[in-house]
Amino acid sequence: MKKTKIIILIIFMLSAVMTVISMRPSEKNIVEVVQDGKIIYTFDLLTAENQTIKIPSPDGNSSNTVTISDGKICMSDSECPDKICVKSGFLKSESIPVVCLPNRLVIRFGNEVN
Ligand SMILES: [Zn+2]
Repeated sequence: MKKTKIIILIIFMLSAVMTVISMRPSEKNIVEVVQDGKIIYTFDLLTAENQTIKIPSPDGNSSNTVTISDGKICMSDSECPDKICVKSGFLKSESIPVVCLPNRLVIRFGNEVN
């Protein structure tokens, strides 16, 4: 093989690797449940047991249900009008948190526990 072909091949492989790295799910295992800007729960998904938590909304008129199942977390149910949070499914990415705007509730990957 000529040198230029090898260089092109290396560049191609590097860009493929970069694509895989940027697309892979978060390796973080600390998640935070944030209501109204305050962290109300922190979980380590590696050790958290399967559980379901009902979280009342700040005004008390609505609620969200957060479920941890086999090391994954999602908003499994909500009394909010749009249900976008439920449709988002399991939390996968650091850049895309699960958000319930009407109830001001967010599930996101967080930093290590202090
Ligand atoms: Zn919602």
